[in-house]
Amino acid sequence: MTEAVTDFPIENLPYGVFRDGTGIATIGVAIGDRILDLRRSTGAGLFDELPTETRRACGEGTLNALMALTPGHWHELRARLTELVIAMAEVESYLVPMQDAVMLLPAVIGDYSDFYASIFHATNVGKLFRPDNPLLPNYKYVPIGYHGRASSIVASGVPVRRPAGQTQAATFGPTGALDYELEVGFFVGGGNALGTPIPIESAEEHIFGVCLVNDWSARDIQAWEYQPLGPFLGKSFATSLSPWVVPMEALAPYRVPIYARPAGDPAPLAHLDSAANRERGAIDMMLEVEISSAKMRDTCIPPFRLSRGNFKELYWSLAQMVAHHTSNGCNLRPGDLLASGTVSGPDAESRGCLLELTRRGADPITLPGGEVRRFLEDGDEVTLRGYCERDGLPRIGLGECTGRVG
Ligand code: MN
Repeated sequence: MTEAVTDFPIENLPYGVFRDGTGIATIGVAIGDRILDLRRSTGAGLFDELPTETRRACGEGTLNALMALTPGHWHELRARLTELVIAMAEVESYLVPMQDAVMLLPAVIGDYSDFYASIFHATNVGKLFRPDNPLLPNYKYVPIGYHGRASSIVASGVPVRRPAGQTQAATFGPTGALDYELEVGFFVGGGNALGTPIPIESAEEHIFGVCLVNDWSARDIQAWEYQPLGPFLGKSFATSLSPWVVPMEALAPYRVPIYARPAGDPAPLAHLDSAANRERGAIDMMLEVEISSAKMRDTCIPPFRLSRGNFKELYWSLAQMVAHHTSNGCNLRPGDLLASGTVSGPDAESRGCLLELTRRGADPITLPGGEVRRFLEDGDEVTLRGYCERDGLPRIGLGECTGRVG
């Protein structure tokens, strides 16, 4: 991101939680390089025209209560925020510099589910393990996912410790194949009652907003443990989350048709298909990953871009993931986090993890400065970014999700 461009113009207005000057967790709204303190500005009466439940939620220390309200409440709050920020005079004294703020996890995350929605990622990874049959037969019928671990989700910037585990050789020790995964997360707003599926037509009404997710993965631990029940300790040691949750309403101008299934692919089953989903189920959003090693930082070499892709290339949409997740009656709750799975595109430069970029270490990457990477080394810092751009519209971004190993 260049100095001149902010991810947070007034068309964005994402929500986050920061520690204010007195140490209290406080909901804030990002505006340029400042944060509007929602607790103080609500207390000062700037949102008195809004319903009590909205004002009460704005004073909380997590976004859960706000997420539990309805899209109507979210829209009203956003409209009032826009009005205040355009006028600026009334909010000026409730703005704090972003650089002084410590950002926290935006919500208490009850459950975390991670999908596998990029067919390019699934195919690239499948090829490494099954060259003749990379894509399993279920892939085009069902959005594949697994239940992740909510307790080890950490805020962007929190250091990630290299995990130890069992690997293929039946030995126990530090992972030698630590990887990142570039993902987009989406927070559940209003949930559903146990036993009551969410139809795809109303699935997006249950999504509060999106953020960036780094699903750190230990590939050697994962390879040894993943059959038959899927990922477990190879992923549950840490998952990093960007601090700002961008509302779905802010993303509306960047909605595009879902990925066009190639001829011969099965159509989605009826409960995973709708006209709205076909026409604007995807989000046109660029996603980038950068790495900076300890040596690069010591020698003033700027971070190196590892990949660049687009979120619109997912085989399965957010609405399809919500509809599928609840199709058996499973209940989602406000603050639950769902994530897309590694976002990779059709090009070599759009591969969203090192496992794909280096083909499990077979094609190492040379960093500026001469270091070679198959997987992450201690001291490596990985930063994810996401942003939407369209002619005639300002760029809006998700900010950064960063984490350093060690
Ligand atoms: Mn993942």
